[in-house]
Amino acid sequence: MNLTVRGIGRLLTMTDEPQRDTALVVRGGRVTWTGAASELPADAPAEELDVQGACVVPGFVDAHTHLVFAGLRREEFVARLAGQPYDGGGIRVTVDATRAASDEQLLDLAAARAATAMSHGTTTMEVKTGYGLTPEDELRLLDITARLAGRTPLRLEATYLGAHVVPAGRDRDEYVDEVVATIPEAAARGARWCDVFCDQGVFTVAEARHVLTTARDHGLGLRLHAEEIAWTGAAALAAELGCASADHLEHVRADDARAMAASGVVGVLLPTVTLSLRSAAWGHASVLRDAGVELALATDCNPGTSWCESMPYAIQLGCLAMGLSVDEAFRAATLGSAHSLRRDDVGHLGVGAWGDLAVLDAEHEADVVAHLGGRPVRTTVIGGVVQQRL
Ligand SMILES: [Zn+2]
Repeated sequence: MNLTVRGIGRLLTMTDEPQRDTALVVRGGRVTWTGAASELPADAPAEELDVQGACVVPGFVDAHTHLVFAGLRREEFVARLAGQPYDGGGIRVTVDATRAASDEQLLDLAAARAATAMSHGTTTMEVKTGYGLTPEDELRLLDITARLAGRTPLRLEATYLGAHVVPAGRDRDEYVDEVVATIPEAAARGARWCDVFCDQGVFTVAEARHVLTTARDHGLGLRLHAEEIAWTGAAALAAELGCASADHLEHVRADDARAMAASGVVGVLLPTVTLSLRSAAWGHASVLRDAGVELALATDCNPGTSWCESMPYAIQLGCLAMGLSVDEAFRAATLGSAHSLRRDDVGHLGVGAWGDLAVLDAEHEADVVAHLGGRPVRTTVIGGVVQQRL
């Protein structure tokens, strides 16, 4: 909980300009001091981490994952390589595999993914349900997410995504009513957020409005899968409801993006999805930026459209494929993602924030973007506790 980080060649706090040759002090899990190495307080904690000139950044905040699942989607993936387009239907394959898995299996799988994410510098992660799709199975995924919090040092944010897809064989109106009726219990089981996959062939804007307004009445924050497959007006709905985030946004329109900016909706970019879907939709980051939308980056870790736990990889694609600058991408992966979760205690290293940081295997953050296929993070620290030393 108390740690002195020395030998920082370059420090990005996200609250100040980048600093050279600095140190950072964590007490009680929180950042209490940053400054020139030569001015390190004499009573700094004895527990030390010497990063030997490396660049240190805030721990990454992965604002969009579907971490708890069983089974893979190998056939769908291979078919996509052969030209098959994505229509969201593969979610049901994961639902079947997830329902068939035991609690312990799901917990072990999720914990292993969380460990991989942490080794890539993630320190806070949002985790959605959505592979249960009955009240019992969805609530089970929330219970497993709550247990996962005891198995990983990551800070977790649980999201109820009962409206992920209409389950096979179910009447859609009845299913939406069931999702809505489950919201109070989802809130009681630890969900802080509610999300809907609002898109062509999935849930309509009217259905999403019904689910989300009910969730808001029960104290949940709102997120929305929006404009991924096609434009449906989901981003405008996110603006209307004041959602904390609208995610994906490949087909967002400029006027909807301006409405998002006006109501403070953070745009969560998921570039590994665009890559995995073999989509050509890389232009939306500019549309959002031009409209003044605050940007976040996330992995969307899931077995079908983005099998990825690595925030540095999302940053690389954000820069190389979406056209973000290095500064924009690191800001989006830390501060922007934290804002999308309405948190001011993570995503930066200003005094008072949690002592969550990633020690890059580089002297400058730009090197992490340039070095493809490398090992971008040397050490991850959460709340002043060193999680692994490489
Ligand atoms: Zn998603």
